[in-house]
Amino acid sequence: MTARLHVDLAQLAANIERVRATVAPSELMLVVKDDAYGHGLREVVRTASREGVTWFGAFDVRTGRAVRDALGDAPRIFTWIAATGGDIDDAIAADLDIGVGDAALLEDVARAASAAGGTPRVHLKIDTGLHRNGVRPEHWPAFVARAAQLQAEGSIEVAGVWSHIAEASDDEDDAARVAYERALAEASAAGLRPAMRHLAASAASFARPEFRYDMVRVGAFCYGIRSAGGPDAAALGLAPAGRLEADVIAVGDREVTVGIGALEGLPSTLAGRAWVGTPAGPRRVLAIGEWTSVEAWSGAAVGDTVTVYGGGAGSPTDLAELIGTIGEEIAVRVSPLLPRVYGAA
Ligand SMILES: *Cc1c(COP(=O)(O)O)cnc(C)c1O
Repeated sequence: MTARLHVDLAQLAANIERVRATVAPSELMLVVKDDAYGHGLREVVRTASREGVTWFGAFDVRTGRAVRDALGDAPRIFTWIAATGGDIDDAIAADLDIGVGDAALLEDVARAASAAGGTPRVHLKIDTGLHRNGVRPEHWPAFVARAAQLQAEGSIEVAGVWSHIAEASDDEDDAARVAYERALAEASAAGLRPAMRHLAASAASFARPEFRYDMVRVGAFCYGIRSAGGPDAAALGLAPAGRLEADVIAVGDREVTVGIGALEGLPSTLAGRAWVGTPAGPRRVLAIGEWTSVEAWSGAAVGDTVTVYGGGAGSPTDLAELIGTIGEEIAVRVSPLLPRVYGAA
């Protein structure tokens, strides 16, 4: 085991600060799904909490409970996948905010809450075109009317109305925002006054102020992962918090073998396309299998450090663009078995 992911918590904190300053006065919800995009949940949420972040986006209930364990009672923790009855009970017990994107789930949450004797906070989700769950516009008026009734009965508290947008084209996002505005008006007509309206993720939170509402849900940018095809990290004022490194384990005439490979999460399609940082400067990646082979440099020695991304090498998004994916995908593929090493650069 020679590979490791260095996580620069000071850079993470600086990115978070940059995002918060950009979106203010809107709140930041730091999205921490997939083990905080591969950076390690506990250290990330502790750092963010020290920086004053009070909202966390956990995706699944298990992650939400892990954030609660790490940080205690104070933060608000939003989860938006409650797949089973057990999940709902767990979410209520851990005082999580629950994203609700269908009518049956709304009833399940209300029923579970009255059994448990609590009043869970729910965030109602309108489908604004992405079709990744969410209540369809034609069913929305009845849905918000029912939510208002359940709130009046004291079984739930409607804390938010939200949706998710593709951030792929401004036109599509504009159409989604029109649908979102209509949903807000209908929720208001039903008597709901949700404190938290949230729509934007990383890209729109920076580029489109009118998408910020009360809160933005940002993952990628906080980790310093820019959008593929978008503005570069320096223009955004961000830098990757993660630096993936591995040591040289064998030296040949033409190639050097580095102790990281496909099993540790490197996409083999990067071979022939990517370059890595070496003590002698950038070198091309020749093949990725069990290990990675890289063009040799003079003086290469076993134990030399090679940087796959971050630091002096390219960013996760630079790698992603070579193979038609997104930086998040590169970051979350790093095997959970690789050590995470925390500290400053
Ligand atoms: C992952 C996710 C986000 C964060 O997206 P980034 O582009 O990483 O900022 C926001 N909202 C939802 C619903 C998500 O699933």
